[in-house]
Amino acid sequence: MRAFDYRRAQSIDDAIEALARPDTRLLAGGTNLVDLMKAYVVQPVHLIDIGRLPLAQIVTLPDGGVRIGALARNSDTANDPVIRERYPLLSQALVAGASPQLRNMATVGGNLLQRTRCHYFYDTAYGACNKRRPGSGCAAMTGFTRQHAIFGASELCIATHPSDMAVALTALDAVVVARSPRGERRIAMTDFHRLPGTTPERDSNLARDEMIVAVELPPARFSRNSHYLKVRDRASYAFALVSVAAALEVTDGVVRDARIVLGGVAHKPWRAQAAERALTGRALDRTAAAAAADASIAGARPIRDNAFKVPLAQRTVARALETAGGLA
Ligand code: SF4
Repeated sequence: MRAFDYRRAQSIDDAIEALARPDTRLLAGGTNLVDLMKAYVVQPVHLIDIGRLPLAQIVTLPDGGVRIGALARNSDTANDPVIRERYPLLSQALVAGASPQLRNMATVGGNLLQRTRCHYFYDTAYGACNKRRPGSGCAAMTGFTRQHAIFGASELCIATHPSDMAVALTALDAVVVARSPRGERRIAMTDFHRLPGTTPERDSNLARDEMIVAVELPPARFSRNSHYLKVRDRASYAFALVSVAAALEVTDGVVRDARIVLGGVAHKPWRAQAAERALTGRALDRTAAAAAADASIAGARPIRDNAFKVPLAQRTVARALETAGGLA
């Protein structure tokens, strides 16, 4: 690990001011950043510890929504009574991620900013990684692609985003609240993470000088009919091969609104809007769920070792919808 300066932020403003300096990173739970520093993937000169700032509260908003502080631990968020009751999808996704020990340290803000687990990104013995070193190439293109993207990839990067929580937050229409010297900015989850395009080094649309202070959830609409289903190589402590956040608003047996978001298949949580359209306005039954599952894989472009993800995604969407709709 390269030597660095460490300092504890005294306030939110202090952290934001410190972030303006080049080569500065904010440290929260450290569950991903410290690994990246040990592997020489990220080498900050200044590390600002924000772990003790008062940003861990989970509060109900006047409109019935919920504001989750950026430093709320993943385990505290998953076990919060209001989250469990109104947003069980988020609770399920959080519990599906990492291990209990990691969830006790990882924060909501840090979870959003975790980096891809592409092996070639982590292993600096591979010189070619456009995400780690822009312009150097992509070792994965000619390597082992089992974990990589089937949607939205570019010629420069085929990495996937590893978060389960972000998939559920996208389905729940969450908003990320960020603060900088210019004030506060609200970013819809669907716009928070980016596809790789020509700038795979950028994972999100958060500006260099912005700090996440909270995530807000709108009033719950999907609490009765939602489900997070994660398929992975082992039952615990593994990243998703494919995951699905299914959230339905159902009245009189008809789907009035739907969110179907896939994880483990793209550089960002992948909202399957064609599948949502296929379901909306229809009576909820197995035939409708199957039609939505078929629509969810439109446009998939597997590369070599990950072709299995296409039928896996289709089946996972169908099963998640059947469970969310009480048909399973
Ligand atoms: Fe790097 Fe992306 Fe290629 Fe992985 S897929 S080696 S992260 S450029």
